[in-house]
Amino acid sequence: MIEVEDLTKYYSGRSAISGLTFRIEKGEIVGFLGLNGAGKTTTLRILACLTLPSSGRVRIDGLDAETDAHEIRRRLGFLPDAPPLYEEMSVSSYLRFVAELKGLSRREAAMRVEEVIDTCRLNEAREQLIGTLSHGFRQRTGIAQAVVHRPSLLILDEPTGGLDPVQIVEMRELIKRLGGEHTILLSSHILSEISQTCDRLLIIHEGRIIADGTEAAICQRMSQDQDAGILELEVEGPEGISAAETGERARSVVGKVQGVLTSRVVGQRGRRVQLEVEFNTDRRPAVARAIVESGLGLVRLDRRAMELEAVFQRLTQGSRAGFLPSTAAQRNQAEVKA
Ligand code: ATP
Repeated sequence: MIEVEDLTKYYSGRSAISGLTFRIEKGEIVGFLGLNGAGKTTTLRILACLTLPSSGRVRIDGLDAETDAHEIRRRLGFLPDAPPLYEEMSVSSYLRFVAELKGLSRREAAMRVEEVIDTCRLNEAREQLIGTLSHGFRQRTGIAQAVVHRPSLLILDEPTGGLDPVQIVEMRELIKRLGGEHTILLSSHILSEISQTCDRLLIIHEGRIIADGTEAAICQRMSQDQDAGILELEVEGPEGISAAETGERARSVVGKVQGVLTSRVVGQRGRRVQLEVEFNTDRRPAVARAIVESGLGLVRLDRRAMELEAVFQRLTQGSRAGFLPSTAAQRNQAEVKA
């Protein structure tokens, strides 16, 4: 649905984004995550055909953003960071006005406005002047104007910006509801606001994409790239031995494996005991061997994936390590070769 190839934008000789390449498939909800100034708004404005790139290409539904901008605008809805709202109009008359502006007939517009008022939970504010709305209702009105003409693609720049915790939850639910009908790209600089809503994340830092994938895949891959980490271990003791004794035996066995720093029992179920083992070098085969040779049963041995919060911090701390999960990396390489 969206194909972005080597996209670069300079402002006064300084690059705001540099060589962005990614794809978004039909029906996906993708989160565009980056710190302030990372280049999110610049990218979204180019995708929405409001700004031209300095170089690179954008195709949406196979249409070129430079030559078919008019047709692309018909197919997309955009919520900018400051929604274009007319303060003196009521919510319903403003939405009718936007719908007709976007080409819907008077009758269609009236019907569609009722639908979006319902979807965006704007009923209680429908006759209120926009200038008197709370921030949460303004944002929802901004989303309603973006979807009123039934676009297939929805681009939302910081939809949760400035909302309180209750409004953030409501906005997440609204975005998920809209995900059934639209492909959605939304930006945020706050990880928790985006990770629960999106199928996939694009992480941008200093104008470059540094990670692309599902939360689980990004965390998994980052964890594998680290030497140190935590193992989750479950062992089963022989009949007649207490769980406490099994735990102590397991701790003593893994403690002798080189690279293991600490271990602790974190739970038990019947004869099974769960442990967390901290290590500075991943020695899973050695841990497994030691457990089995000690006469304990090895039920489970997993390396715990890093939490996304830690991954995001690591990725955006100074270095541009350049992390992409294999599918995206391969895809990018293939595109560069093509
Ligand atoms: P935020 O979360 O703070 O909105 P962002 O990730 O959306 O940040 P952009 O607004 O795209 O980032 O800005 C990327 C860089 O480009 C920043 O350094 C910004 O100062 C610069 N920039 C953006 N727009 C302009 C402009 N019109 N003229 C000059 N520089 C600009």
